[in-house]
Amino acid sequence: MLDLAIIGGGPAGLTAGLYATRGGLKNVTMFEMGMTGGQITGSSEIENYPGQGAIVSGMDLMQSWPEQCQRFGLKHEMNQVSKVTKSGDVFTVTTADGKTQEAKSVLLATGSVPRRAGFKGEKEFFGRGISTCATCDGFFYKGKEVALIGGGDSALEEAVYLSKICSKVYLVHRRDTYRAAPSTIEHMKACENIEEVTNVMVEEVYGDASGVTGLKVKNRDRGEIRDLAVPGVFVFVGRDVLNEPLKQDDGTFLCDVNDQGEVIVDLRMRTSVPGLYAAGDVRIEAAKQVVCAAGDGATAAVNIIEYLG
Ligand code: NAP
Repeated sequence: MLDLAIIGGGPAGLTAGLYATRGGLKNVTMFEMGMTGGQITGSSEIENYPGQGAIVSGMDLMQSWPEQCQRFGLKHEMNQVSKVTKSGDVFTVTTADGKTQEAKSVLLATGSVPRRAGFKGEKEFFGRGISTCATCDGFFYKGKEVALIGGGDSALEEAVYLSKICSKVYLVHRRDTYRAAPSTIEHMKACENIEEVTNVMVEEVYGDASGVTGLKVKNRDRGEIRDLAVPGVFVFVGRDVLNEPLKQDDGTFLCDVNDQGEVIVDLRMRTSVPGLYAAGDVRIEAAKQVVCAAGDGATAAVNIIEYLG
């Protein structure tokens, strides 16, 4: 039986794995189907990770984390966890291949995925000109014009990144003020080839067999439509938490969640179910920062060791 099953291999999961194994737990498995490192690996420029003086990509920031954890005995299983149940004191972790493993404790560190904005054409052209990752897809639009939708930190940071590759970036936002941090807004405004298209709603993204060829936006006050003829549209409108493994057969969640599906935890990352913890972006009130997710992971691991002790 596992001492601890960690679900998710981002900053929270990896840090929990490091602290749990270094703290003496012998049988700890981290379940991560994809590449370790989490959603931050899709970010192009990180300048606010403490101690990391230079601006680095998310990929570079996370590169050494898995090896550091594995040195202390963390096992990585490349498998997706589909369900977690609990009977008595024992958790059962079911993976997508139908196999089950028992665990004395479980940490959910699954994070979140990019939210869809819900405009016409989004589904049809997703992956054919619509993207949620500038680092992955920006290069396809080298020297071309692109549009980017959103007004938070992700949108503005990625607009700045794309402005260095593309000839022009239309920053399309539904309001005329941004959610992003003041310093990020300043960076964005300093880029001469970013045009702010604010106070508009996306009417539709259109295209043909080759993919996206443009989008139409409608001014919210005047109602006029503007046509932006671009081959690429990037969408950064927030994220949805990945709480699927907690869903039980009867449709309820294994532990308490709020109305957005975020897992309710206390300051020790304990959920409403003893032995079940949550860390990082999947929990309530998450600051959605790498450093905070890592802190959550460490906090959870320290308390899991105490719980098992
Ligand atoms: P966010 O802060 O929630 O911003 C989402 C943006 O998308 C908002 O401007 C929102 O508009 C807009 N939006 C939402 N739904 C929309 C829709 N259906 N159609 C059009 N626009 C829509 O999301 P985020 O930028 O992904 O950031 C998430 C969290 O991570 C935040 O806490 C952020 O501070 C943090 N983060 C931090 C850093 C950093 O510190 N370096 C980097 C990235 C992210 P409204 O403003 O009108 O609601």
